Amino acid sequence: MAKYNGPRCRLCRREGQKLFLKGERCLTDKCSYERREFAPGMHGQRRAKLSEFGTQLREKQKVKRVYGMMEGPFRNLFKKADQERGVTSDVFFKKLELRLDNVIYRMGWASSRQDAKQAVRHNHIILNGKRCNIPSAQVKVGDTISLAEKSKNKGRFEQADLLYEKRPKLAWFEVDRAKNIGKIVAEPTRDDIGLAVKERLIVELYSK
Ligand code: SF4
Repeated sequence: MAKYNGPRCRLCRREGQKLFLKGERCLTDKCSYERREFAPGMHGQRRAKLSEFGTQLREKQKVKRVYGMMEGPFRNLFKKADQERGVTSDVFFKKLELRLDNVIYRMGWASSRQDAKQAVRHNHIILNGKRCNIPSAQVKVGDTISLAEKSKNKGRFEQADLLYEKRPKLAWFEVDRAKNIGKIVAEPTRDDIGLAVKERLIVELYSK
């Protein structure tokens, strides 16, 4: 399965904002973006004026990178959202939020979405009573998600727990942290996402 293996901090610097891709490091003064707030590369400090296409592309790349997705799956998810009833951008963000790997991150069992993907692929996650190792699986209201019994004492989850306390709490799921079980109680809204992005530009880009 294709995935980005390059330096993640470079992605934040390219997009000109913190994307929180590295867990704890993002909250410390070791954050590369805070130390070098300009694009990577030899000409990174030049201010290039972006074309209309360039602006749309940057917004799309930003969201794609936040959710750690490659172009194909990202575009396919957009197509599915476009075919459903409702405002395309709202449906699209709802689908992004309801990916299993994102839910694991939101529920505080991973310090980053990348770690969440790995936790799912390594069989640490139970979805509705069955193991699920597909990070892109869509969850829905009423689904329960928990850690596999053997995984509960792993250090990675304890570390993620500490970071969870520092993140804003969201109303669309409930988590019992003592029992390591969570439930989706509502659909996420655009406001829950907390990402500064102009989704209209992504819709325009993919509608060409
Ligand atoms: Fe981005 Fe986190 Fe790296 Fe900072 S530490 S540049 S927020 S990935």
